[in-house]
Amino acid sequence: MLQEQEAHAAEMERTFIAIKPDGVQRGLVAEIISRFERKGFKLVAIKIVVPSKQFAQKHYHDLKERPFFNGLCDFLSSGPVVAMVWEGEGAITYGRKLIGATDPQKSEPGTIRGDLAVVVGRNIIHGSDGPETAKDEINLWFKGEELVSYTSNAEKWIYGVN
Ligand code: UDP
Ligand code: MG
Repeated sequence: MLQEQEAHAAEMERTFIAIKPDGVQRGLVAEIISRFERKGFKLVAIKIVVPSKQFAQKHYHDLKERPFFNGLCDFLSSGPVVAMVWEGEGAITYGRKLIGATDPQKSEPGTIRGDLAVVVGRNIIHGSDGPETAKDEINLWFKGEELVSYTSNAEKWIYGVN
């Protein structure tokens, strides 16, 4: 049992997920939250913010050489964004699966982008692409005290360990 608990603890991850201004304006906040929640991931931080352009540039700094960078940062800072941290076993990689491919034309049906978006420039959601980016993005968007650690009653049913 102790081994199972240790294995479970070792697999626990936190990922940064943001509903972009198009997702918020289209009334998809509850739909998107619901998909992460029903999967069994745990919401540990959430807020709604309008990021500045400078903040958007920091968030997307890896893409600064790309031709769409300026338009992307203009767009991210154009309205409210719902910023969240979700926790669970494999939450980073599986979060990306729930989201689907970057270009919604290529996202599988059943994924968030596959079901709810049509073009790459308005693909409604962001998710961290690896452990390092997850850490950096969580630190960029949230202060330590905004992250809430708690045990959900459902956890023993989701993971089979306490
Ligand atoms: N993007 C775009 N045109 C492209 C590629 C990406 O407008 O040709 C936007 C799109 O909104 C995407 C974001 O830039 O979500 C970040 O790109 P990335 O490659 O990191 O995709 P993601 O990690 O969001 O799937
Ligand atoms: Mg990315």
